[in-house]
Amino acid sequence: MSGRVKKAMFMLGNWTQSRGWKFDSKYANKWEFDIDPDAEDLAGLTLRVVVYLEEPFVMRANNKIGYEGFCIDLLVEMSNLLKFNFTIIEVVDGTYGIEDDAGRWNGIIGVLQRHEADLSVSAVTITYSRVEVVDFSLPFMHLGISILLAKSNEDVHQKSTLFTFLEPLSFSVWISLLGSYLLVSFTMWLLARFSPYEWFDIQQIDERDKSMDNHKNQFSILNSLWFAVGSLMQQGSDVIPRAAATRIVAVIWWMFTLILISSYTAQLAAFLTVERMTTPIESTADLASQQKIKYGTLKSGSTMDFFRESKIPIYERMWSIMESSSPTVFVNSSREGIARVKAGNYAYMMESSMLEYYIERDCELQSIGGLLDSKGYGIALPKGSPLRDIMSRTVLQLQERTILEALKNKWWRDRREGVPCAAQKETQSVSSFKSVFGIFYVLFAGLVIAFLMAIGEYCVESRHRSFRLQLTVIGKLIMWWQELGTVEKKTVKNRRKLRNIQLDNISERPRTSPNAEANRSLLASNGQQGVSMDCTGEEPSTSRVASGRATNFRRISRMIPLRDEILLQRRISSCSGTSHSQ
Ligand code: ASP
Repeated sequence: MSGRVKKAMFMLGNWTQSRGWKFDSKYANKWEFDIDPDAEDLAGLTLRVVVYLEEPFVMRANNKIGYEGFCIDLLVEMSNLLKFNFTIIEVVDGTYGIEDDAGRWNGIIGVLQRHEADLSVSAVTITYSRVEVVDFSLPFMHLGISILLAKSNEDVHQKSTLFTFLEPLSFSVWISLLGSYLLVSFTMWLLARFSPYEWFDIQQIDERDKSMDNHKNQFSILNSLWFAVGSLMQQGSDVIPRAAATRIVAVIWWMFTLILISSYTAQLAAFLTVERMTTPIESTADLASQQKIKYGTLKSGSTMDFFRESKIPIYERMWSIMESSSPTVFVNSSREGIARVKAGNYAYMMESSMLEYYIERDCELQSIGGLLDSKGYGIALPKGSPLRDIMSRTVLQLQERTILEALKNKWWRDRREGVPCAAQKETQSVSSFKSVFGIFYVLFAGLVIAFLMAIGEYCVESRHRSFRLQLTVIGKLIMWWQELGTVEKKTVKNRRKLRNIQLDNISERPRTSPNAEANRSLLASNGQQGVSMDCTGEEPSTSRVASGRATNFRRISRMIPLRDEILLQRRISSCSGTSHSQ
């Protein structure tokens, strides 16, 4: 320590080979520091801070300090408030500290006890036995011992319910499946109407078709839905596609259902098998009452000490099992403990603060049961250090300003990479969706090919001028278009003829026509009101026939009343239609 703190030469204790340092309690509080315990700051001091590397408290970094983490941020905040400087020392033996049988402390506690550092800002747990040899500030974080275990398949999936049969596929896959089913049924119906080869003669199935009435297309909407559901349920159907386009749809759908149903069956079987095989561990008692899963703690830490010193029968039994286990169940770091947990058949008892950090990042891990105890981390200082009060006040200050909370959020949540495990079910669904997603692509590609095939079929069939072309969607569209054109032409023609009637009425004198007279007599003989005329012209040319009819009409128009002119005009239209088709 430097600056305003002066070390006085006192006999504080002694050191022996077997016991290590032993401080005499009568000297413990007699340190002389040239520092007012009520001082507002520690300006000018350079403190030696001993740390233990533990994620996310203290980690090596490439920054100015060379370290980062929750405790380093806490140290920086404190140094800013108290205006002291610091140097960081890593604990040489890599432990937090435990007292051995000879009463010697190792780790951070030993370093502080030997005054090799002025304080420790790490995840050092405040325990009764440690308070005997070092001082602690007020706790800056609260925690308890918890059990870390790898998730079994049963935990990954959920326990069986009435609707477990739905779980092998995620909700998104079920929805996509329903969508695909409707899409395929609709495509089947559409392509069956699109392709000429899906229409067939009921009487002469293998011959080219002759009449429209005999034609049948089996893929109605209901039949298309029936076909698709029959395939999905692996039962087939009595409706069988005939055209290549619809057959492509059928083949792709069969392939799709085969893969989807196989993966569903396999996953459901896995669900049921796992449920039978696993024996769940849900508490410390479950862990203690079995031998298959080994359990252990961090070596030379407060957790190990908790079991060693415990007088609770279950923990005593656990300690004796842990102590006698070979190979050792005690690990050198939390990372090593987690690796053993993930390797299987090992439960790691660790502090909830670290456990929380790890299970948020690794979805294969889970905590079992509640907390075994309740304690806190504090800033550790050599016994009798005058820095203790000022450190405690600063911790309270940081707590009140919610800086400690903000730092916890920063290191536990904000620094988290990837998907949080809370969203694990969703992630599983996504992965389950991904595993079958490819087949949806194949299905859509198949439907596109089937569409192209239907167009090809229409083109091929149109070369034969087959009758059934008119039954297809395109055929019907073309017919509709042609009829529309004919009606338009007729309307134009009729208008022209009506104009002629009017012109004829105005400009020409009435003349008798043998044809008109014949027609009138025919009408009279039939006892009808209206007009009739002979549509058959003797000349083969359409234009000449039409002009002949027009002349006849003019002649007739002079003899019939105006009311009948409209009927006559209609008759002309039908005649011109006949002449057009000739
Ligand atoms: N933080 C603990 C300690 O101070 C470490 C542990 O044993 O889990 O020893």
